[in-house]
Amino acid sequence: MKPASFAYVAPPTLDAALTAVQQHGFDAKLLAGGQSLVPVMNFRLAQPGVLVDLNRLSELDFIQQTADGRLRFGSMTRQRTLERHPLVAAHAPLLYETMPHVAHTQIRNRGTFGGSLAHADPAAELPVVLVALYGRVRLQKVSGERWVNGADFFTGLFETACTDEEILTEIELPPLPPHTGTAFLEVARRHGDYALGGVAVVVTVDQSGACTAARLVYLNAGDVPMVAAQAGAMLVGQKMNDGLVTAVAEAAQKEIAPNGDIHASAAYKRHLARVLTVRALHLAFARTAVGGEH
Ligand SMILES: Cc1cc2nc3c(=O)[nH]c(=O)nc-3n(C[C@H](O)[C@H](O)[C@H](O)COP(=O)(O)OP(=O)(O)OC[C@H]3O[C@@H](n4cnc5c(N)ncnc54)[C@H](O)[C@@H]3O)c2cc1C
Repeated sequence: MKPASFAYVAPPTLDAALTAVQQHGFDAKLLAGGQSLVPVMNFRLAQPGVLVDLNRLSELDFIQQTADGRLRFGSMTRQRTLERHPLVAAHAPLLYETMPHVAHTQIRNRGTFGGSLAHADPAAELPVVLVALYGRVRLQKVSGERWVNGADFFTGLFETACTDEEILTEIELPPLPPHTGTAFLEVARRHGDYALGGVAVVVTVDQSGACTAARLVYLNAGDVPMVAAQAGAMLVGQKMNDGLVTAVAEAAQKEIAPNGDIHASAAYKRHLARVLTVRALHLAFARTAVGGEH
């Protein structure tokens, strides 16, 4: 299949790109890495009148750390850059651990952080990481900007809070508290496929080893990244033990809302969530203490 015909613009600056999306509104589509948009256009599921190419905007390609420890990423940062960047390895171990699970190297060479978030596939890894880490995104338009928390950004299946006049320009991840351990696990039929299920776990403990905060977020478990808030709350105030972990995993698989599809039934996805939760919790708690203090 070939896409329907479209006009193409490649603005040299962010200001020019913002003007272009304001001018064309719903008729425009932003082109980042093109790894999701181009197939969708080739299948004619999207037929934008104008393609606004963001690839000339070097100002949206950066990774920085602020003085207070936050990591800031330009939305055009390639996924492959995230995977290999020393700041990510040192300060965002959950993101670092997750990156090799995103598609294939060739796709990560082109695919961007912002493109993956804006695409909002519930089976994608990066939205789950953003929500698990209490990250937020910067949305800019000609007349202003706003920051939106990850948990509020994903509003439905392939839907986000980003309007037609806005561009997602930046992603921010806060620093992890001391004694925090993280883990990401997923199951895919073949390496590089979208996963049948997966979980990101973030746990924080105090000096005694009791849990002070816990976050469990699932992919392919509903229309958006699914937070198992009640299951996470069961951990708070407790010291990790096998019985507790089993009970939390049981609660989490009831809290999520996976849809059955041609790859797996909803029941199988719940089963997967339970098994992965047990494993990920063990990993994350171990990382709070043994060389895993982030
Ligand atoms: C074979 C294959 C396997 C894949 N497997 C996985 C996988 O396992 N896990 C996974 O997570 N992903 C997977 N992907 C998707 C890949 O990670 C994409 O790179 C990603 O989903 C989209 O990023 P992109 O930069 O290519 O965005 P594009 O394809 O360029 O854009 C995607 C959408 O986001 C919009 N958009 C892009 N940038 C912005 C912005 N800055 N502001 C507002 N809107 C914007 C576009 O208009 C479009 O609607 C796979 C893709 C392929 C082709």
